[in-house]
Amino acid sequence: MHILIIEDDLAIAANLYDFLESRGHSADAAANGIAGLHLAVTQRFDGILLDLGLPGMNGMTLCRKLREESQVDTPVLMLTARDTLEDKLEGFENGADDYLVKPFALKEIEARLIAMHKRYLGKVANRMLEVDKLSYDPKTRSIRFADTTVKLPPKCIRLLALMMSEPGRVFSRKELESEAWEDVQETSDTLRSHMHVLRRTLTRAGGYDPIETIHGLGYCLIPRAEAKD
Ligand code: CA
Repeated sequence: MHILIIEDDLAIAANLYDFLESRGHSADAAANGIAGLHLAVTQRFDGILLDLGLPGMNGMTLCRKLREESQVDTPVLMLTARDTLEDKLEGFENGADDYLVKPFALKEIEARLIAMHKRYLGKVANRMLEVDKLSYDPKTRSIRFADTTVKLPPKCIRLLALMMSEPGRVFSRKELESEAWEDVQETSDTLRSHMHVLRRTLTRAGGYDPIETIHGLGYCLIPRAEAKD
């Protein structure tokens, strides 16, 4: 997971950073509320560790702005020295997903980040997705393109739904493979052939191929306004 740490206590921030990296995650850190909000809005994270007492902008305000003004739904775990019920309720009202009182155990931080991420993925998986003339209905697992229902193998649907969840973002082969095949190891030829079927079918149905190969990186669903052809 890619985690954003917003914490002005540099010793705590360094401790969190080192722990997360040692567990195979990657992290970015901000030491004040304004820099933290900027990172949270402009970059993509799987979770945010948010201290409440911050210079510049406090954690409650940051969280509320993130949800209400920027419409960013990245899971937020609030970290605080305050542990009254009112503090917790205020945190949830401002859009926090979870709450942990200092001092905390690093392993518990990781467990909660993973749990929040799983809930988030479940929520995303049930969201109707629409990109230009393409739409994906998670309830029926069906794809429509230019007003036509497109018949696709289930793995192609999973690949497309993942790319539709973030149009314009490049998905690596590894990310796409783990979405479509979960734990089963497949060769990169398998992904390539599924991509080929997917792109050919979409082109036939809608008249153009919305997917682009980003050489050396992976694949990306290009919103129509940005497509070259
Ligand atoms: Ca603080």
